Amino acid sequence: MLAKRIERLTSSLVRDILAVAQRPGVISFAGGLPADEALLQVDVNALSPDVLSDAMQYGPTEGERALREQVARRMATIGLQCSADQVLILNGSQQGIDLVSKLMIEEGTPVLVEEPAYLAALQSFKLFGADLRTVPLQQGVDIDALAAVMPSVNLAYLTPTFQNPSGYCYSEEERKSVAELADTHGVCLFEDDPYRELAYDTPAPVPMVSFVQSAPWIYQGSFSKTLAPGLRLGFLIAHPDLIPHLIRLKQAADLHSNRLSQLIVRQILEGGELEPHLAKSLPIYRERRDAMAAALQRHLAPYASWQVPAGGLFFWVKLNAVNDTLALMRQCLSNELAIMPGVAFMAGGRDEGYIRLNFSHAKPELIERGIAKLAQLVSEQQKV
Ligand code: PMP
Repeated sequence: MLAKRIERLTSSLVRDILAVAQRPGVISFAGGLPADEALLQVDVNALSPDVLSDAMQYGPTEGERALREQVARRMATIGLQCSADQVLILNGSQQGIDLVSKLMIEEGTPVLVEEPAYLAALQSFKLFGADLRTVPLQQGVDIDALAAVMPSVNLAYLTPTFQNPSGYCYSEEERKSVAELADTHGVCLFEDDPYRELAYDTPAPVPMVSFVQSAPWIYQGSFSKTLAPGLRLGFLIAHPDLIPHLIRLKQAADLHSNRLSQLIVRQILEGGELEPHLAKSLPIYRERRDAMAAALQRHLAPYASWQVPAGGLFFWVKLNAVNDTLALMRQCLSNELAIMPGVAFMAGGRDEGYIRLNFSHAKPELIERGIAKLAQLVSEQQKV
């Protein structure tokens, strides 16, 4: 009775773990939750009644024109020139992954993904029947491996800026090389970019798709990490040939994105309030990143190695002698600690002893306690 693809529909491990992680008393490094202190405070009373009642009516599928214009203007400052007609407002950038999957993937479609990669993208690509071809990404991208895989795929999904989970940020040179490969082989480049603004040391390089000359491309961003994930607001920008199809797919999916969220974000962008909001949020994230770096150094150094991420929300930690990170995750959960096993991010399903630790949600004192507990559990596993 059910569609055949449902057999390929796996539950997102993150959602399952988050259900447990949100129990009181659990220290959670599992989800990608922004700091509560950095979430946008909305004064609904400040919205004008006329605009508010307008937002209660059905709206355009593409999104509010004024918001699309704001997004296009903002993208130009980041280095991606586009017109507002190329912008599609999404109910969260997760929706972009669904729409692009529907546009590009059928059973057996070869798709290039990084290994590790964002697990909810893997979930969607697999649902639509993608044949995933992986390129290793640990503390750097393997351009030779990318060059070897590119000729055989139709779509390449990359998160080149503070990747989830590895935290890696492609250099400008690497971005140019990938764009050139996409041009050479006519591969559609899908750049997922929700962490760009969360840069703690130096600003991120320009988007990879801005170097593309002839290949089709899709870029997406999100307001989840900069403002609030509960708004469910993101956006997609695509090559002019692709955007009409994506708009129709969006129409078939949900008619249009939440207008109240669009109104709130439009007013923030028009009022120039995003940068001041980020200026308040970034020190909170930087402090937590540094707190986790110090706690890892204090407690986990004998058992693991990692790089301090220059942006984003995660440490990607390689454990020296643990090769069952799912078992470690269960062990942690029974000790009121939530972590993400690295195996969940590996398209090939191999457990290479990595774990992903989110540093943005827990306060520094909890980070210290949680990492001390993690080190104790890892040391116990290593003795077994
Ligand atoms: N892409 C990546 C790489 C992510 O990490 C996330 C969320 N964690 C998303 C897309 C989806 O984000 P949202 O739907 O909240 O915009």
